[in-house]
Amino acid sequence: MLSFFPNPYPDELFYSLVTRYHIRSGNKSFKQTLIELLEYYPNQLYSLALPNNLNHLIKRVPSTSTLNFERLIWEHTLYPFYRILLTSSEAWSLSKCMRGKLSEPIYKIAKFYQHSELKQTSLKFCPDCVRQDINNFGEAYWHRMHQVPGIFICLPHNCFLIESRIPLITNNLQHEPANLENCVLSSLKVYAPETIQCLKKLATNIELLMQCDISFQGLPWLRNQYQNYLVQGGFIPKKRGDRVRFDAKSFLHEILRYYKQEFWDIVKPGTYGKLEEYLAYCLLGCDVTATIERVIHVILISFLSDSLQDFFGTKFAQTKTILGI
Ligand SMILES: [Zn+2]
Repeated sequence: MLSFFPNPYPDELFYSLVTRYHIRSGNKSFKQTLIELLEYYPNQLYSLALPNNLNHLIKRVPSTSTLNFERLIWEHTLYPFYRILLTSSEAWSLSKCMRGKLSEPIYKIAKFYQHSELKQTSLKFCPDCVRQDINNFGEAYWHRMHQVPGIFICLPHNCFLIESRIPLITNNLQHEPANLENCVLSSLKVYAPETIQCLKKLATNIELLMQCDISFQGLPWLRNQYQNYLVQGGFIPKKRGDRVRFDAKSFLHEILRYYKQEFWDIVKPGTYGKLEEYLAYCLLGCDVTATIERVIHVILISFLSDSLQDFFGTKFAQTKTILGI
């Protein structure tokens, strides 16, 4: 049993919680702390976004702690993001792996392309959150929502997230608290108002999907649903032959009226020049790949349908019910 474990702050990233524990524990090395809490030592910070063997930690927190496994993964890890577009059984497998020891790499179970998730190279922060947290709690901390792929804006403060000095890829993982030395203000590029609106919409939709429990029916279903919406939108002829004839050019023309180059350069750098093929592949080839482009799917779904709930054909149940809050 641990003699203490910090109470998590609202939306605190698991790494931040471990860092605060380390500072108060008096342990000499961060490696020692990680082994104490998780029984293993991940050498990259991004691994702590989807940690595993959390049961080891949960069994050892003091009995007075309110922390349990469900709260930990839903509120302090990126599990709710990677759960998007997983079927119930796939999501169950992911949570099972986070609870216990891994049988295969977590990115395979969560179905993400490891290298694309690393394009964000540092932990991000919102300067207003840093100020507010120091006022409210006496210290800053790393927020989980600020590290979610596709989220570039802090919605409560309506401001752009800034990359900190703490890299996600490192040869020697250390404890790096969020503080005024690590979270340094830098000058931000000025973006067009429509780009900011699109980024806000994207962040809002990702947040909504992270908070809701949808029983997703699988990628073949997603592909069919895209096809239905593309027929309705006139991008696929109604009379279907054996082959689906998708008018990718018109689709690209239409989507670029709303989501312009500046938006794609932020969200998916380097793809603008090959967007036509890329989007066609995401729409009609989504069920043949081993990975899920969650951010792109959220953009495509909200472009094709007025409401995420209509697209998924279900009312979203809030995960607060799952957590019994
Ligand atoms: Zn903020």
